[in-house]
Amino acid sequence: MNPQNMGRCAICGVNEASTSDHLPPKSIFPKPRPNNLITVPACEDCNNSASGLDEAFRLYLALHVGGSEDDAATRYFKEALRTYKHNKRLQREILARTNPVDFVTASGVYVGEGARILWKSDAHDRVISRMVRGLYFYHFGEALSPDTCVSPKWFNRPDNEFLEKLSGLSKNVIGEEQVIYLYGRAEEHPDASVWYFEFYGRHWAGAHTGF
Ligand SMILES: [Zn+2]
Repeated sequence: MNPQNMGRCAICGVNEASTSDHLPPKSIFPKPRPNNLITVPACEDCNNSASGLDEAFRLYLALHVGGSEDDAATRYFKEALRTYKHNKRLQREILARTNPVDFVTASGVYVGEGARILWKSDAHDRVISRMVRGLYFYHFGEALSPDTCVSPKWFNRPDNEFLEKLSGLSKNVIGEEQVIYLYGRAEEHPDASVWYFEFYGRHWAGAHTGF
């Protein structure tokens, strides 16, 4: 893309865009990466401030999807862990956030001791917010105003009743369902939008904007 023609940054909606940004971050997909990744125009500031957060998000997400049988999730987990081995700062941070827990199945059977790693919520919420701003631009063709607040949310595994409530939203799938998301905005108040993300069928998050 020619920087002259990129217009404003999709994320902050203020600065001139001079680069492009992958949303969701491309590092949360194992190689070979899906061919339908989304890029949006971004300014230098938004692009640079993202890298440390993306790295943390990538690792925490990997730790949460790693136990799955899914091939893509397993490859993703292994790739993320390889990077983690070289990152002392993230290693210290993860150790400080690890709690020993007893694993109990849904029917109440004790299956042994393990470790539960708490998400770093700041990195999580900032990555989700950036995804929402970028994807808002991508789907609706305009950036959210910098004054519009984005409120990230955490969700547990959804039940049918919850999914029923989201049935009116549009849907997009990235890769082989590594990321599925639902979105919609209010016609009369375009700043008001809702977003719901599923990562690897194992982690759920969402956000609303403008209300
Ligand atoms: Zn920007």
